[in-house]
Amino acid sequence: MTLPASPVAPDALEPEIARTARELRLDARSAELDAEPAFPRAEFALLASQGWIGLRAPTSLGGRGLPLRRAGRLLWALAHESGTTFAKLALQPEFCSVLAEHGSPELVERWYRPLVQGRTLVGNHVTEPSAGSDAGALATRAEPSGSDYLLTGIKSEAAFATDADAAIVYARIARPGKDPVGVTAFLVPQDLPGITKTVIPDLGERWMRRGTVEYREVRVPASARIGDEGAAFGYLKDELDRERAVLAAIYLGVARRSFEQTVEHVGSRAAFGRPLAAQQGISFPLAEDWAKLDAAELYVDRVLGRLDSGSAGSPEAALAKWLATSTALEVLDHAIQFHGGRGYSKALPHEQRWRDVRSGAIAHGPSEIMRLVGARGLWPR
Ligand SMILES: Cc1cc2nc3c(=O)[nH]c(=O)nc-3n(C[C@H](O)[C@H](O)[C@H](O)COP(=O)(O)OP(=O)(O)OC[C@H]3O[C@@H](n4cnc5c(N)ncnc54)[C@H](O)[C@@H]3O)c2cc1C
Repeated sequence: MTLPASPVAPDALEPEIARTARELRLDARSAELDAEPAFPRAEFALLASQGWIGLRAPTSLGGRGLPLRRAGRLLWALAHESGTTFAKLALQPEFCSVLAEHGSPELVERWYRPLVQGRTLVGNHVTEPSAGSDAGALATRAEPSGSDYLLTGIKSEAAFATDADAAIVYARIARPGKDPVGVTAFLVPQDLPGITKTVIPDLGERWMRRGTVEYREVRVPASARIGDEGAAFGYLKDELDRERAVLAAIYLGVARRSFEQTVEHVGSRAAFGRPLAAQQGISFPLAEDWAKLDAAELYVDRVLGRLDSGSAGSPEAALAKWLATSTALEVLDHAIQFHGGRGYSKALPHEQRWRDVRSGAIAHGPSEIMRLVGARGLWPR
């Protein structure tokens, strides 16, 4: 049986992506990393050597410099082959584009170029115990001290809490006798004195080993500052728009794979003397999933293209992530359900895919905030 292809499948490159995934055992590695969480440094370097890390990174810095829409389609396909793990690994430079776009040439050479080469890992420390969705409530302080800054604060929920070689840390400038102002980004090597790290086990995407990183008067030089004092929120907004839309493509790639496997399964598995697919209780939800997946893929693809041309912005990017995660989670839930007892088990990949995609409704802006940002597109402030 030939299933209808996704409207966003990048036909010409499909064999190349499938070959890469097969050669590197990405699907199996993703399951292994779920069972024994670790940062996959070997695969990171291998994927980089094949041009998969930094699809969007400038060619002058070793990336492929692809437009968002093209990168989105490729990552959709990589996610379709191997789940979220390696597609998100490929996106690491995109999560650090604040550094590429606003860091000094020295910082970019020291940290961004090796990141694109898969030789170093740079985390992002925005969220704090009292500031998540409301990032404006950030309390981490950067106190000027001679020609340095002293960083003090707690960063929570951070991916790669113990594995990152460096992190982009967002803090408020705190001058003596004045209220802290101006969120500013710093590139902070994670082996500096005064940093302590804790990992807290997660539901999914366990290879990211998220956790808490505490900074106690960590001394960084002024040269570690990324861009201007007080300008970091503006930098971050542009990065978030792009990463949300590309992440949406990844979640849909994962869900598409489970959808295809479920359609095959219910066509061949019999109960009560007939294939499961002959039961409308099963065929109708899957018919709906087909339409919803096509619709979400086309919407996300359009938003990526419109972000490329500058004709869309934060509301569309936020809605793309909301639509993709809610559609994907519904499709993955059906995959678990219609595979029955095995669907709920680790014998099949659907439960891990559901757990991994579930993070998408929280990370990079929770779904409630995505709709809040989306609504601002209808009623601008
Ligand atoms: C897998 C994963 C990876 C992550 N990686 C990183 C990372 O590398 N670096 C980093 O800094 N952070 C990271 N995060 C943290 C993530 O960005 C935050 O969890 C997220 O921004 C939500 O913040 P919070 O956890 O404080 O939730 P809260 O802000 O406490 O929100 C709790 C709930 O309330 C809802 N809510 C809040 N305000 C409103 C409102 N006005 N209207 C309606 N609902 C509202 C939220 O949507 C959410 O559902 C990661 C999270 C996950 C799950």
